[in-house]
Amino acid sequence: MVAIGIDIGGTRLKVGRVQEGYIVQRASAETPHDFDELINRLAALVAEVADGRIGVPVAAGVPGVFDDEQSMVLASPNLTFTINKPLRDRLSDAIGVKVRLGNDASVAGLAEKVYGNGEQYSDFLLATLGTGIGGGLILNDRLWEGSAGMAGEFGHLGVGGPFEKENIWQCGCGNYGCTETFASASRMEQRGYKLCGIDSLPELADMARNGDEAALTVFQDAGKALGEGFAQVVLLLDIRVMLIGGGASPVIDLLREPLLDQVVARCDGRKRENFIIEKALLGNDAGLLGAAALALS
Ligand SMILES: [Zn+2]
Repeated sequence: MVAIGIDIGGTRLKVGRVQEGYIVQRASAETPHDFDELINRLAALVAEVADGRIGVPVAAGVPGVFDDEQSMVLASPNLTFTINKPLRDRLSDAIGVKVRLGNDASVAGLAEKVYGNGEQYSDFLLATLGTGIGGGLILNDRLWEGSAGMAGEFGHLGVGGPFEKENIWQCGCGNYGCTETFASASRMEQRGYKLCGIDSLPELADMARNGDEAALTVFQDAGKALGEGFAQVVLLLDIRVMLIGGGASPVIDLLREPLLDQVVARCDGRKRENFIIEKALLGNDAGLLGAAALALS
């Protein structure tokens, strides 16, 4: 089973030929902020990793909101130059096979299912804690994309309920109290700077592990917000597994307990031991691997 996965990031394009779960050839380039140049560069990168193979299935993970056909990006803060342009069809023409597009966070969830730590679970949520929070939902062993590829937007669930009003901030999406305003890696760093004068997440985590109260507050509040969000997912879908990826996955030890406290407080009749909160496995390659898995699905 061979496929080519494309990860279209705001700063880098990553392309890889994936064979039986391994990236056997990869290529990468800066993201040009011009639509025609993007198509040309991606076609060249795909040709490079295809290495003469013809007809290999291709899919791309894109950080954006799609139209109903998943052929065009309608909104994306980092890829504004692709908005309302025929991304899927132009890419397909340039590469010579029909390319599928998927949301980057969703395909990362698919990557965990097919190649990573989610293989053993039929149903789970992947939450990627980075600049924001991305989410991917696996149900019945399959990626749940929703009507237009946008399912699993865990970062924008409203979780302000258990917090004091002065700690509820506005999100980049315009709303107040979204999960990512409490628990993205960036927000934990900002909060750490405010409370402890330190904005390095590993340093803050060490302080918290050594019992520093202010540093602990940062992770307790982030964990509580993640738990409040996950509780809503649990109430709706009765899933039991949450995988945490992205830049903040190394601090999962500090997030797990407050997260579980909030989930059991919210979800009547369920116990802590019903839930599994684990690290995602794939790191920076999740997008590329997930796109390859999407191409094969
Ligand atoms: Zn939001």
